[in-house]
Amino acid sequence: MIFLKTEDEIELLRQSNLLVGKTLAEVAKLIKPGVTTKQLDKVAEEFIRDNGAVPTFKGFPNPYGGPFPASICTSVNDQVVHGIPNDIPLEDGDIVSVDCGTFMNGFCGDSCYTFCVGEVKPEILQLLKTTKEALYKGIESAVHGKRLGDIGYAVQTHSEAQGYGVVREFVGHGIGKEMHEDPAVPNFGRRGTGTLLKKGMCIAIEPMITLGNRSIYLDNDSWTVKTRDHQVAAHYEHTIAIGLGKADILSSFEFVEQVLGDKAI
Ligand code: MG
Ligand code: MG
Repeated sequence: MIFLKTEDEIELLRQSNLLVGKTLAEVAKLIKPGVTTKQLDKVAEEFIRDNGAVPTFKGFPNPYGGPFPASICTSVNDQVVHGIPNDIPLEDGDIVSVDCGTFMNGFCGDSCYTFCVGEVKPEILQLLKTTKEALYKGIESAVHGKRLGDIGYAVQTHSEAQGYGVVREFVGHGIGKEMHEDPAVPNFGRRGTGTLLKKGMCIAIEPMITLGNRSIYLDNDSWTVKTRDHQVAAHYEHTIAIGLGKADILSSFEFVEQVLGDKAI
């Protein structure tokens, strides 16, 4: 069931999502060769709790194994999503997708940004740029009167035009009091098909795009999703509210990009 949000509820969602954006900026300050993803997680969790919120990911249940043990997902290189922070130092040339979720004043925030560690290869930088562009193409289609398939179509065509793979098994989602609400928001689709988009629907759009083939598998840790060909994958995510003529982006990359400066994707 899709819950349409009131203006007041959308403002609460915005507050939670702005905190996600600020948390990602705290993480951005630390990303460099030698830092571990566990160090990033510690800073993120403290920042979220210091701001009166709870990290939604921590303890999130998993039908295939134990609950998620950390406050952010850190997916490095061939890890697509749901990477678990660990003690392995990031290396020059790596990429790391940091996905963050908060619960504040009864509403969820959810946003992800893929960062470069030091200098990355141009072909990887291009993947990151295209994935972020694909996210914004999807957001452009997320308006009252269009359909869910229009969002997926926009993301898919922009990504596949560059020869990249679009992951099918993991998708965006409705968001509100729960992190995952209806509808599922695929990153692929056909124009003019699927659920009618209405003002007040709040969704997370999150393209997961692969440099090589889109085939993925679940690692033995029951969380980490990796590409089968071990080529890198990128992941950007915004939480938005569907509006008349234009979506209202509730999360923000502004704080991250202030930290990254001219290194922003
Ligand atoms: Mg997320
Ligand atoms: Mg999400």
